Amino acid sequence: MNHEPMNLGLYLHIPFCQAICSYCNFNRGLLDDALKVRYVAALEQEIRRAPGGGADTIFFGGGTPSLLDPAEIARLIAACRETFEVTADAEITLETNPETATPARLAAFRDAGINRLSFGVQSFDDDELRRLGRIHSSARAVEAIEAAMRTGFKSVSFDLMLWLPAQSPASWLRTIDRALALAPDHLSLYLLELYPNAPLKEDMARAGWSMAPDDDAADMYLEGLNRLGAAGLEQYEISNAARPGHQSRHNLKYWQAGDWFGFGCGAHSTVNGRRWKNLASTADYVDRIGGGQSVAGDVESLSTRARVEEALFTGLRLTEGIESARFQARFGIDPWERYGADLDPFVQSHQVWHKNGRFGLTREGMLVANEIFQVFV
Ligand code: SF4
Repeated sequence: MNHEPMNLGLYLHIPFCQAICSYCNFNRGLLDDALKVRYVAALEQEIRRAPGGGADTIFFGGGTPSLLDPAEIARLIAACRETFEVTADAEITLETNPETATPARLAAFRDAGINRLSFGVQSFDDDELRRLGRIHSSARAVEAIEAAMRTGFKSVSFDLMLWLPAQSPASWLRTIDRALALAPDHLSLYLLELYPNAPLKEDMARAGWSMAPDDDAADMYLEGLNRLGAAGLEQYEISNAARPGHQSRHNLKYWQAGDWFGFGCGAHSTVNGRRWKNLASTADYVDRIGGGQSVAGDVESLSTRARVEEALFTGLRLTEGIESARFQARFGIDPWERYGADLDPFVQSHQVWHKNGRFGLTREGMLVANEIFQVFV
């Protein structure tokens, strides 16, 4: 099996938040300043213990990584640069909560080396934000984004969520229009997924908020993407759209079966066919790193079959789809030869396209991606 040389991505997990949103199932906890100081030191140590390699992205995710001091961000970037050969033009992203984004902090993050911001906005409707337990208002989000644009980052992105409790299609489209008026470089549109014990579920039951019917949700997604396209933000992945040259290089590594190191509690890594997950508890992570012990668990060697399956699932999330010849050169099977007959009914129903040696999902297909992916299992 050939392995195309590709630069690594470096993911740094920051598990602290100022408040816990009622729908959130990420690995995070409330900010504890003393623990944060110990955590950053441990994270730096974990990075410095890594074997190195060429890298062209650094991604601070969370949690709320913008709660770190700019000096802490600079120190972690320096650890990455001293351990890995990080390219001069590396994409360095900070997930940012609008509440933490004052003009002074934004300038300091830029000076620390951050060149891409990804804001967690979710909605420009204050009632919707309150129902989610978010601490920022829509006005605060607008202020933060405008300040970021003035500060001069290479790319400014933000996340929006659809299918929120008591969100009407009209209110969703108002959020889309307000987002586009800010002229972002990149937008992510996520469907709210409620995990089984999410406090938001209880809030919804108590307050009688319901979600829009499935058909409305599909229309909201499709019309949202239409408006983004008309404004020059082309969809390139199921949930992501960007102006030319502003696709997320880091996230493309996940969708194009690249390799990445994940540092910090609960972070996943996939390098050279091996995958592992760090232990999730922040305090245990700090203690074990301090004691010189490993924090990696669930280490597995991915079989060729597992890698093929995953490359199909993730590759088909991209609008460019999968190029059969390239896939074969890399994984040793021609995916259309192997799965084309099973995918043909979806071609007939216009949910899958196949032309010039490539195949992928149409927008309608993206709405039922999980059903189509069953073909590969
Ligand atoms: S800010 Fe983000 S990571 Fe933190 S609780 Fe809210 S959704 Fe979760």
